[in-house]
Amino acid sequence: MKNLIIKLKNKIFLGKGITPDEAQDLMKISIDNNEDMEYLCSVADEIREKFCGDFFDLCTIINAKSGKCSENCKYCAQSSHFKTNAQVYGLVAKEKAVEEALKVQSEGAHRFSLVTSGRGLEKGDKELEKLIEIYQELKKETEVSLCASHGICDEYSLEELKKAGVTTYHHNLETSRNFYPNICTTHTYDDRVATIKKAQKAGLKVCSGGIWGLGESLQDRIDMAFELRKLGVFSVPLNILMPIPGTPLENMNPLDPKEILKTIAIYRFILPKAYLRYAGGRVNLKEFQEKGIKSGINSALTGNFLTTTGTTIKSDKEMLRRNGYEI
Ligand code: SF4
Repeated sequence: MKNLIIKLKNKIFLGKGITPDEAQDLMKISIDNNEDMEYLCSVADEIREKFCGDFFDLCTIINAKSGKCSENCKYCAQSSHFKTNAQVYGLVAKEKAVEEALKVQSEGAHRFSLVTSGRGLEKGDKELEKLIEIYQELKKETEVSLCASHGICDEYSLEELKKAGVTTYHHNLETSRNFYPNICTTHTYDDRVATIKKAQKAGLKVCSGGIWGLGESLQDRIDMAFELRKLGVFSVPLNILMPIPGTPLENMNPLDPKEILKTIAIYRFILPKAYLRYAGGRVNLKEFQEKGIKSGINSALTGNFLTTTGTTIKSDKEMLRRNGYEI
C-alpha cells in the first residue's frame, strides 16, 4: 500500500487528479493496519500543507428558522414527516442575527451563516425579502464573511443574496447520486446540483458536502467526492450522522472512528485544494478528532451549536494552535 500512496502523492503534486479507481484502491487499506493508516494520514496532511498551507478556516452558523419542513430528508430532525423533539420557530429577528454574528466575530470566527429549514427560496417569497434585510444589516454591522444556507433556490434568490452581501452559498449533496433516493424523495439529486450551479452562476462560492453513516457504501462516499470535484466547490463540510430519535435513521449503527479518519484522508487525495471542513457529528471520531486535523481537515464549523459535544470556538482554537495552524 505504501507504494500506491507514494505514487498517488507524486501524481497529485504534479497537479494531476487521482481517478475513482485509484480512490477505490486507497479504500482497500485496512483500518486495522496501523502502519498503512499512519502513512495514509501523514501523506494526506502533506497534501493539505502543500495545496492549502497552514491556515485553518472557522465558520459558525445559527439555526435562523427551525422545523416544519415540507421535505423528508431521513436524517433530519426538522422534517414535518417525522415526530422529533426539534424546536419549531419562525425566522430570527434582524437584531438577534447581528448580535450573534458580533459575538462569534469577537471570538475569532471567520464566517457566519444563517441556516433555515424548508425546501428553499424563490422570487416573491416573503422569507427571501426578510433574509435580504438581515444580510444587508449583517454586512453593515459586522466584518465576518457571510454565508447562507436556505435549500433549493432559483437564480433570482441567489443573485439577491449575493447583492445583499452573501459570499458563499451552502448546499450539501448529502451523499452519492445512486444512494440519494434512499435518503430523500421530496426533491432530487439533480435539484441539489442545479442549485449549486445556479449559485456559482450568481457569483457565489459554494460550500457543499454531505453526511457519512447514512447506510451508504464506501463507493457512495467516493462517488460524492468526485461529484464535488466536478462541481468545483471550494469547501466541503463533512458531517457524520448523529441519529435523531424519531427519524427513520434513529437506529443506525455509528461508523468506526478509524473508518471516518480513513475517509477524511482519502477525500484529501481526491480534493487537494478544498477546505475539508469538520461539521456535525465530529464527536463520533472520539480520540481521533485531533488526528483528523493532521489527516486532511483544514476547516471546521465551530461555536455554540456544538456545546453538547463540549466544543467551543475557544477550545477549537487551542486545539488548532497545538497542531501548528494559523487561525
Ligand atoms: S430540506 Fe433541510 S430542513 Fe428540510 S428536511 Fe431536508 S435537511 Fe431538513
